Amino acid sequence: MERRARDLSLLPKAHLHLHFTGSMRPTTLLELADKYGVHLPDALTGGHPPKLRATDERGWFRFQRLYDIARSCLRSPEDIQRLVREAAQEDVRDGSGWLEIQVDPTSYAPMLGGLIPALEIILDAVERASRETGLGMRVLVAANRMKHPLDARTLARLAVRYADRGIVGFGLSNDERRGMARDFDRAFAIARAGGLLAAPHGGELTGPSSVRDCLDDLHASRIGHGVRAAEDPRLLRRLADRGVTCEVCPASNVALGVYEKPEDVPLRTLYDAGVPMALGADDPLLFGSRLAAQYEIARRHHAFTDEELATLARQSVRASAAPEENKTKLLADIDAWLAS
Ligand SMILES: [Zn+2]
Repeated sequence: MERRARDLSLLPKAHLHLHFTGSMRPTTLLELADKYGVHLPDALTGGHPPKLRATDERGWFRFQRLYDIARSCLRSPEDIQRLVREAAQEDVRDGSGWLEIQVDPTSYAPMLGGLIPALEIILDAVERASRETGLGMRVLVAANRMKHPLDARTLARLAVRYADRGIVGFGLSNDERRGMARDFDRAFAIARAGGLLAAPHGGELTGPSSVRDCLDDLHASRIGHGVRAAEDPRLLRRLADRGVTCEVCPASNVALGVYEKPEDVPLRTLYDAGVPMALGADDPLLFGSRLAAQYEIARRHHAFTDEELATLARQSVRASAAPEENKTKLLADIDAWLAS
């Protein structure tokens, strides 16, 4: 007898790659834009993800502009609380048992009274949303590689100072084609010395060399995306040997034109090479799909079996900064899902 496929929104998993504004519900964006009189471009109101072709600089610029417009609709502590609460609710609905949300507080500082107030408002919102939804949540502070490395150092110091308030990692985002990873090595050294995990973006818009730079210069323990490592078998072996997890975001890759079609995202190549992965939604607001949908892509377009999908979920849990007791519980719940 043919059995029905297990429900992927019930598969317990950790979500390690989700950006702050990018996590917003589309309906919430419409409401906030209306409240503040912000005119939204069609690409943000159409109900389906815009085609962005971010592999050229104009496409990336367009993506950033849409992101900036969406962010400009977050103006008060209440807006921030709503965003985080809804992100947690959406994650719970998709089977997430642990969420690490990524934010550059600098971008929110002008609206929220400065860098430190912005960070405190964000951390309070995360703590509150976690309490209200029961979802374990932590924060990655991400520096912007379009800005000066000194800004990144300031952020790293701040992130370390607030580590006991729920910050677990330090990231680096924005256009990989700008600046060198090496320019940010001091910021990452500060973050690592303060006990934060290093999780910079790499291997998305540029090839394997950007992943190597993240390993060599920033001592990354996780890589945001990292998919372009698939072009270099030696690099894959290195990632696998060191157990460096790639936070792979298939729907994002297709929306941004990194790959043409879902089946082109090299999930199989990474998986077969033994590179641990944590599937993530990146910016569901702009890419139109959330966490469980990423696992659906692995199932539908890459023929991952339920056993393999459970392996992916375990990899996401193991790569998270969750306390051991949370990990043990989630891993047991994954086994239960597979046994169901
Ligand atoms: Zn990202």
